[in-house]
Amino acid sequence: METTSLLQIAQDFGSPIYVYDSEKMISQYKRLTTAFNKVKKIKINYAAKALSNISVLKLIGSLGAGLDTVSIQEVKLGLTAGFTPDNIIFTPNGVSLDEIEVAAKLGVQINIDNLSILEQFGTNHPKTPVCIRINPHVMAGGNTNISVGHIDSKFGISIHQIPHILRIVENTDMTINGIHMHTGSDILDIDVFLYASEILFETAKHFKNLDFLDFGSGFKVPYKEGDIETNIEEFGERLTQRFNLFCKNYGKELTLAFEPGKYLVSEAGVFLTKVNVVKQTTSTVFAQIDSGFNHLIRPMLYGAQHEIENLSNKNGKERFYSVVGYICETDTFANNRRINEIAEGDILAFKNAGAYCYSMASNYNSRYRPAEVLWHNAKAHLIRKRETFDDILKNQIEIQL
Ligand SMILES: *Cc1c(COP(=O)(O)O)cnc(C)c1O
Repeated sequence: METTSLLQIAQDFGSPIYVYDSEKMISQYKRLTTAFNKVKKIKINYAAKALSNISVLKLIGSLGAGLDTVSIQEVKLGLTAGFTPDNIIFTPNGVSLDEIEVAAKLGVQINIDNLSILEQFGTNHPKTPVCIRINPHVMAGGNTNISVGHIDSKFGISIHQIPHILRIVENTDMTINGIHMHTGSDILDIDVFLYASEILFETAKHFKNLDFLDFGSGFKVPYKEGDIETNIEEFGERLTQRFNLFCKNYGKELTLAFEPGKYLVSEAGVFLTKVNVVKQTTSTVFAQIDSGFNHLIRPMLYGAQHEIENLSNKNGKERFYSVVGYICETDTFANNRRINEIAEGDILAFKNAGAYCYSMASNYNSRYRPAEVLWHNAKAHLIRKRETFDDILKNQIEIQL
């Protein structure tokens, strides 16, 4: 997006504000589906938790995507955004049987990731086809916060428990229509992913009524210069070949499913903030913005490095800054970062702010959460109002003392 458009949005709608470029989401979706265009049936289920504004869901749904959901509320958001139940997959972890039954009643595809619920659900609803989430015990990426396929992970049913799965399926006479895995958030190495895929194929052979194989996500997008990015085209070519061979041996054209979040929306997002104070100390220069980890927690939570650009002074001399927030807690966005000279009132843009940014925002310090804008067809559409003081008080009950 053009700097002038972003600055205009900050002026018109105020800061802090999230801005999403629809064109980038659309091109990412197309790049992914093109990479798999030699698979007869491909399904991209967008992981709603990355960015769950209903206008964004609607846009991605209009491309032909389905929706990957992890809570009953996300299921309902998806239905509200116009997804049909058969285009929604419910992949929760550690939720109650009740919640799964509500989702099943709404007609969405259920994905179960533990033996206890599998047995109970299968006993109560043997006619409802169910997908199984396996844990292939493959370590993807180095960060255990986002690697969910390794041995100690709470996600999925261990592949060593396949005999137990099979016994439950036989005892309850339920139908397993899909096998799913989601190994983590970073596919750095295609070979590692293909290795995990072999485990999925091996598991799938045990089930005779499959309609789809879901390979989860983990597509890596670059956050800063020099970051490795998943080579989608090479990945597509190699997995397609293997998948098509599997289908041939299985005797049926299955659907190949993915559920990317970050890949579709991360780079489409920019977070615009305003500099309140430039503060010199004995050791550094702080640029203090009108935000904090209440609005963008990834740097503090994961050590994520979002590139920061000074939109108000793009050609200014570069200097070193520590960019921090305004909440009463350490909320460092960047340390010792080279940025074009910053003055109070400047607008700083955080890149890669589409995924896991607004959706993780909170009201900590009783601050309002940011507004959201969708840039679509060269026009700014406000898709979430800024909160007001009423939102802070909403649901609070004042007692009489
Ligand atoms: C979060 C999640 C995803 C999306 O992961 P990304 O790294 O954002 O692509 C996909 N599948 C499941 C089950 C998830 O929990």
